[in-house]
Amino acid sequence: MHDRPVPILMYHVIGDAPAGAAFPNLFVRPSDFAEQMSWLAAHGFHAVTLHQVYDYWLRGAPLPKRPIVLSFDDGYLGQDTHAMPVLHKLHWPGVLNLKVDALKSPYALPPWRVQQMLAAGWELDAHTITHPDLTRVDDARLWQEVHGSRVALQQMFHVPVDFFCYPSGRYDAHVVAAVRRAGYLGATTTNNGLARPQDLYTLGRIRIDGSDHLAGFARKLQGLTH
Ligand SMILES: [Zn+2]
Repeated sequence: MHDRPVPILMYHVIGDAPAGAAFPNLFVRPSDFAEQMSWLAAHGFHAVTLHQVYDYWLRGAPLPKRPIVLSFDDGYLGQDTHAMPVLHKLHWPGVLNLKVDALKSPYALPPWRVQQMLAAGWELDAHTITHPDLTRVDDARLWQEVHGSRVALQQMFHVPVDFFCYPSGRYDAHVVAAVRRAGYLGATTTNNGLARPQDLYTLGRIRIDGSDHLAGFARKLQGLTH
């Protein structure tokens, strides 16, 4: 049976939180991140893409013994400047859940950095254009955010963009239907827990915050049931 659950970690900013940051917990210090990745490697984990997990669940493709998906939301600069080099040394891919409008922000990833991450083996997935609560937008806007973001990223980066990530974890049956109709193979949420094949469009993730450091991170990973 190819139905083993797989942990998907959820990161936001990799960087030091500036004084007075509105959401300091969304910042994971680069030194903490590097220690967390070393811990994973030392404990036999091996990072894979969501596509590899999908191919394992649906087609029986092989996965490493302790697979883990490392997902990075929104498109912050430190995901390339800090996270990518750490993963690159381990020959591990990351999964970038990119908000299209992030490409325009001076604090976020410019397109050439996204290209660099793709060249290093990262998977690019869609996270809408403007990051609205998709349960509160009209149908035209829902389609533009869900389908339009996929088309925009495909045209810009010439990669499949086969997975979707709900902004702020907000979804309902209507939103899930739009994600399926747009042709995505699956979608990630902020629901806490392992990702399971029966939840392809509502995959759980494990949030990693700035306050986890190494000890909290190890606790979260050791608490997983395999
Ligand atoms: Zn987000």
